[in-house]
Amino acid sequence: MERVINKYLNVKPSKNANTILKDRYLMKDGQGRYLEETWDDVSKRVARHVASAEVKYTKDVKEIQEIEKKYYNMIKSRIFLPNSPTIFNSGKAMPLELFKKEAKDMGFDDYKKIFDSKSKHNMLSACFVVPMDDSMDGIFEAVKQSAMIMKYGGGVGYDFSVLRPKGTSIAGTGGKSSGPISFMHVFNTSASTIEQGGARRAAQMAVMKYDHPDVLDFINSKKDNDGNSVLNYFNISINIDDVNNFKNKLKNDEEITLEHPESDKTAKLNAKEYLRKISENAWKSGDPGLLFLGKHNHYYAMGHETPVQATNPCGEEPLPPFGSCNLGSIDIAKLIDFVDIGNPKDRNLDIFEDIVYWASRFLDDVIDMNVYPLPQIDEISKNQRFIGLGIMGLADALYKKSLAYNSVEGRKFMAKVTASLAYFSHVASSKLAEKRGNFPDFKKSKYPKGFIPMPLLEDDFDEDIKLWNQKLRDHFLNTAIKYKRNVQTNTVAPTGSISNLADTSSGIEPNFMLAYIRYMTDKEGNRVPLPYINSILVDKMGDDLTEDLEAEIIEQGSLTNIKNVSDEYKKIFVTSMDISAEDHLLAQHVIQSYLDASCSKTINMKKEITVDEVYNIYEKALDLNIKGITIYRDGSLQTQVLEKNKDK
Ligand code: ADP
Repeated sequence: MERVINKYLNVKPSKNANTILKDRYLMKDGQGRYLEETWDDVSKRVARHVASAEVKYTKDVKEIQEIEKKYYNMIKSRIFLPNSPTIFNSGKAMPLELFKKEAKDMGFDDYKKIFDSKSKHNMLSACFVVPMDDSMDGIFEAVKQSAMIMKYGGGVGYDFSVLRPKGTSIAGTGGKSSGPISFMHVFNTSASTIEQGGARRAAQMAVMKYDHPDVLDFINSKKDNDGNSVLNYFNISINIDDVNNFKNKLKNDEEITLEHPESDKTAKLNAKEYLRKISENAWKSGDPGLLFLGKHNHYYAMGHETPVQATNPCGEEPLPPFGSCNLGSIDIAKLIDFVDIGNPKDRNLDIFEDIVYWASRFLDDVIDMNVYPLPQIDEISKNQRFIGLGIMGLADALYKKSLAYNSVEGRKFMAKVTASLAYFSHVASSKLAEKRGNFPDFKKSKYPKGFIPMPLLEDDFDEDIKLWNQKLRDHFLNTAIKYKRNVQTNTVAPTGSISNLADTSSGIEPNFMLAYIRYMTDKEGNRVPLPYINSILVDKMGDDLTEDLEAEIIEQGSLTNIKNVSDEYKKIFVTSMDISAEDHLLAQHVIQSYLDASCSKTINMKKEITVDEVYNIYEKALDLNIKGITIYRDGSLQTQVLEKNKDK
């Protein structure tokens, strides 16, 4: 690991990264004055805060200092970054002098002081699911609980299927229920008024089971959204919990019965027409997505005890009621210069194994340093110890390896990367359990009986995949697993902000653009252009990248329509919109086959595609090893996260 650290430790974050750092991550006092200046300050604070959890496991201060140094090195070099709330809230409201000391001067009591002075300000997780009862009390209790989570920068998901449909009588009042959609607006308003830990706006996920009587209203609930209005603090997804049943209904052209235990309201809807309605809305606005939570429960080691109910806002983390998960992501684009990740014969593979081990340990320590906003969340988070280690920088790593995202070879690489991540992180979790104990619910889980928490691809997909499959099977089955520290270990987050901090491509997504101009306003109020061009493209093209060509790439964002660029470059340097919906979906399929939780992925589609094509993609998704699907048609919302060549 040293060699990788040495290369990246002192690489300065780009202008773009520094802008985000200053905007969101440098700690400020109550008056808004900066208490930190640099990425180095932030790295030190986060590493020290999280390493303080080690006081639970050792009395040896030298060992804690060493661990703090490892965490610091991984974060400072931006090879590994935890989710934003860990960066925002580590060390917050604590005695600052403890964070200014050199690591070598830290005593055991100093670490212990940090450990003991945790407060509600130290909320470190990004993902939560909050349940609600079908009562006024229950609903408004959930509004309050989620407000507390969002205040500290966490995202929340809810299952609205629990609520009785609109028009159902309410015993005791003689009134009628106003239905789940009306309550979603309450949550939306609450979210809009919450200041997100001073750093970001709120994000929520609303889930509804596919056979709830109000599901058509739910499907239509965001149809007039232009990105700035109408449930704009929500993503929405339909939970098709029984995929096989739904597929059969589609195949046999049968009807789906909509019903709810608390209501006499029932309706029937032809399965094909139903999927078409979903497709029409998704074509218009990207919502709703689909979730297959039944599938998830099948692969979740506690699915029979505490089934998942919804996901966090971006969909990568299905969770049971009051579940929470803290995430972290390894930048594989930086690592790929040193180790051929996923190649089981590579002699440097121990570099990846090592980083996965220390990243997993870091995330496990985060659980102990986390102050959860509710006792119910604390309980399940500590009984199951969810962690979500994932990757970012996939697209840039593919560029470096000259592999196309939308090719069989590209997909083999993706599968091997995630298969090795899954293997090493589960080995890490077992090693940690040997020292620290199993997650308390381990005996109740499916692990002791022999259980593989992910689908795996077919052995004949690739020779190396066959080897990883074998290692995973041995780990989970043949050695009669005795140790597991975490119920789940892998998730791929969108890394929307942290990939910017790391100057790498986000999560497992292709680059949205190869180049663009971002405009900033300086102190004097002038608009300053900040041109960005992908650095790997610049390196690979060398002298081929003339000034004129660079200007054209900035203008276009992609190489596809540029005449003077060879096909070889065009093939490798693909962007989201150059890739067919089917290739996006296949990428998700191979990656998700090795994740025990889920991943954030958008199936980007061109503006011209038809509703039928959206329908076909949704239908295909039902057959793959995926736990959900989100699509986005270019231009389908008036505001889009990044638009080619526009003021951003
Ligand atoms: P980051 O890069 O800031 O760590 P990600 O883009 O990877 O965050 O998102 C990870 C998860 O963090 C999301 O799925 C969601 O649960 C939560 N999250 C992201 N953005 C927000 C937000 N603005 N408000 C609340 N939660 C958020």
